[in-house]
Amino acid sequence: MAGQCELCELSHHTRWYCVFYEPFAFTVLDCDSCDTPMAVLGVHGTVPTEAERTFMSAVLSQIANVRYGPGGFIIDGRMRQIPDHCHIHARPTRLSA
Ligand SMILES: [Zn+2]
Ligand SMILES: [Zn+2]
Repeated sequence: MAGQCELCELSHHTRWYCVFYEPFAFTVLDCDSCDTPMAVLGVHGTVPTEAERTFMSAVLSQIANVRYGPGGFIIDGRMRQIPDHCHIHARPTRLSA
């Protein structure tokens, strides 16, 4: 799987907000294709527990609050392009930037 999943090999050419190691590994960075903040689970293919999903969404929301303003975004757990590696987007509700 190494070398095939771009979420396993996160590149540094977009903005990185934070990297968590505990209580579990995930990274929050700007999505290369959407240019919106997203949280990416540190382990390939793992579906997060409800607690993990809540934790990732909370951190992502803090970042999106600063960027888009309170209520200016939605947390989008759908995975269109890479369905087998858990990631969550924060998408602006207004199309501007
Ligand atoms: Zn994206
Ligand atoms: Zn992966």
